[in-house]
Amino acid sequence: MTETVATTDEQPASPSATEETYDVPADAETYDCSYCGRPFAREDWLALHRGLAHPNDLDDAEVEAFRAAHEDEEESLATFRLQALGALVLIYFGLLMIYALV
Ligand SMILES: [Zn+2]
Repeated sequence: MTETVATTDEQPASPSATEETYDVPADAETYDCSYCGRPFAREDWLALHRGLAHPNDLDDAEVEAFRAAHEDEEESLATFRLQALGALVLIYFGLLMIYALV
């Protein structure tokens, strides 16, 4: 008796997986990565991408731009964390007061 085992790990051939396409509006101004061509809407995001995806290819100005963008990103992340913590504390004590009074 022969048994055929169905293989479920067949992967569909996807030649387009390596060459990514980006859905960019025709009239949008983009900052394209000079190493891989990926478009970005903001120069900061391009600087962050260059630092994270192509760290060994950067020149001094690009490294400096990455550091500045990274610092800005860390700062706004810290601000967001503080605001989120404040909102959580407010919600917690608000619900506690409602529970205590009702
Ligand atoms: Zn790139």
